[in-house]
Amino acid sequence: MPTDSSSRPALLVSSCLLGQPVRYDGQAKAQPEPVLAMLARHFDLIPVCPESLGGLPTPRPPAEIVGGSGAHVLAGAAIVRDATGADVTQPFTAGARDALAIARQRQCKHALLKALSPSCGNREHYDGSFSGAVRPGQGVAAALLAEAGVRVWNENEIEALIRTAGVLPAAMQNP
Ligand code: SF4
Repeated sequence: MPTDSSSRPALLVSSCLLGQPVRYDGQAKAQPEPVLAMLARHFDLIPVCPESLGGLPTPRPPAEIVGGSGAHVLAGAAIVRDATGADVTQPFTAGARDALAIARQRQCKHALLKALSPSCGNREHYDGSFSGAVRPGQGVAAALLAEAGVRVWNENEIEALIRTAGVLPAAMQNP
């Protein structure tokens, strides 16, 4: 099992999943310590918070994609609005681009991002009504990373990530 960072594949990770208090409410969504330790054994963890990279403060009003998903935002066909009504599309797209630049610089083939976030969600996100309803689709950063060929997983898919990334010894790949 490789132990030094140079021999482990780089994994882009939502900072909040690693325990950094960068969410809109000033909190984190840290994964359990054994999970974090296991990830650190397999990967060189590269924390990113696209919304912070885009210049948004913490805490900040919650935001949701209105009129589509992340790919629509990137194409100029949907916007991101916060709960005060402010259009925060620009910092969301800027942060997504910065996250992709880091992924490219560190040669990340995989990313582990926070589910449901308007930036990081990889399968669903809140639907823009601020009612708690979700819709299928990726957040802005997740969409840009996926477009660039980075495979994006969420915190409920860590086992599949580890198997797919090929970081297990061969004997454990297909039990
Ligand atoms: Fe976590 Fe992503 Fe939201 Fe930052 S933008 S707080 S990393 S879910």
